[in-house]
Amino acid sequence: MGRFKSMLYRFMYGRYGTDKLGTCLLVAYIVLIFVHSILTIFVESIVFDLVISLISLALAFFIFYRMFSRNIAKRRRENEKFCGFFTLRKNKFKDRKTHVYRKCPQCKAILRLPKAKGKHFVVCPRCKHRFSVRGR
Ligand SMILES: [Zn+2]
Repeated sequence: MGRFKSMLYRFMYGRYGTDKLGTCLLVAYIVLIFVHSILTIFVESIVFDLVISLISLALAFFIFYRMFSRNIAKRRRENEKFCGFFTLRKNKFKDRKTHVYRKCPQCKAILRLPKAKGKHFVVCPRCKHRFSVRGR
């Protein structure tokens, strides 16, 4: 292993590194820079430049902060939350004809329910709260 590589390796030891959220933030950062460079052709505003620069700076800071973070459990939870959001969207779309998704009013758990007409009662499997669901 080269000297630089081993230094980098030692530096990254015990740190979080990259994940899906990190990759998406990086893509968002690149897109932002790209779109901004195109928009500056049409928009001549210091305020606009400043705002975009601040956003991209904050984004870059957040990307590096997560990468070098030692709080691995917390970063992992962030990533799971992020991935879960998209998985839910995807599933909602996939079985939109057969199922509906409703939030339990008590524990906020998201329930996947088979589609049916009229008013129904549902018991939440997590907190056993009974609530009505209308017009699925
Ligand atoms: Zn519940």
